[in-house]
Amino acid sequence: LICRADFMHALENDIKPAFGVSKDEFDSYISNGIIVWGQPVTDVLEEGQLRIRQTMKSEMTPLVSILIEGPPNSGKTALAAHIALLSKFPYLKFCTAQTMLGFSELAKCQQLKKIFEDAHKSTLSCVVVDELESLLEYAPVGPRYSNNVLQTLKLLLKRLPPKGRKLLIIATATHRDILEQLGLLPSFSKVIHLSNMSSGKHILHVLNEIEHCFNDNEMRILEKKLHDKKVWIGIKSLLDLIEVARQADENARVLRFLTQLEEIAGMT
Ligand code: ATP
Ligand code: MG
Repeated sequence: LICRADFMHALENDIKPAFGVSKDEFDSYISNGIIVWGQPVTDVLEEGQLRIRQTMKSEMTPLVSILIEGPPNSGKTALAAHIALLSKFPYLKFCTAQTMLGFSELAKCQQLKKIFEDAHKSTLSCVVVDELESLLEYAPVGPRYSNNVLQTLKLLLKRLPPKGRKLLIIATATHRDILEQLGLLPSFSKVIHLSNMSSGKHILHVLNEIEHCFNDNEMRILEKKLHDKKVWIGIKSLLDLIEVARQADENARVLRFLTQLEEIAGMT
């Protein structure tokens, strides 16, 4: 006998939404979690929460779009995916040039258009548009970019969802000045800057949060060396360094980590 409980179980476990795939894809962009290492992360998360609420509650703004802009490896993609998941909206979609490799300009535009049209069918939707420069095929030599993709994005960023539907767009980019020149910035309700880690304290925060990395003794040395230093490094680069140090021989790893950190983060 099949009863209601079976249907509910299937809904929970077996049936994937027809469009707006999957938490798994979003999780894959947050492979190392989110470590709140300092104020810049808190600021982005707070703005994200605020915009989620605005999308849900406000009658006047059915379309809310934010741009997270920051240096390479600063954690833009992971934060964008994280905020999208926080929204718990029923339609979530991640657009990235990575899954459009080899697409013609026209195919890219059509794919983008389709994603937004599907988003407009759900009452609450969140679309992440990752690495705007890559989608635009931007190259500094020339400079060159796809004007077709640019015009398509501009229109899609402006198109209001039908009555009663709401859409939150979270985009990421590395070069604010380029988007400014292309006239894309005014398309966003809010541009948020994400900074690199700038102090030794930020790094220590990450080290303290990651387990099985350095032992207590090593941490004491690192704290002495780092607590008053200025640095400049993205979270993704730091996590790489930590991973390398982890593989290294125990008696060499602190020194090795500090040397590499100095090289990449320019400690003063
Ligand atoms: P790129 O410039 O190559 O696009 P990015 O700025 O998009 O890089 P991500 O790809 O988001 O960087 O990489 C960030 C990595 O750091 C992810 O693995 C994520 O899980 C991890 N991470 C840990 N803490 C944070 C944080 N506070 N913010 C963002 N990412 C974090
Ligand atoms: Mg990225």
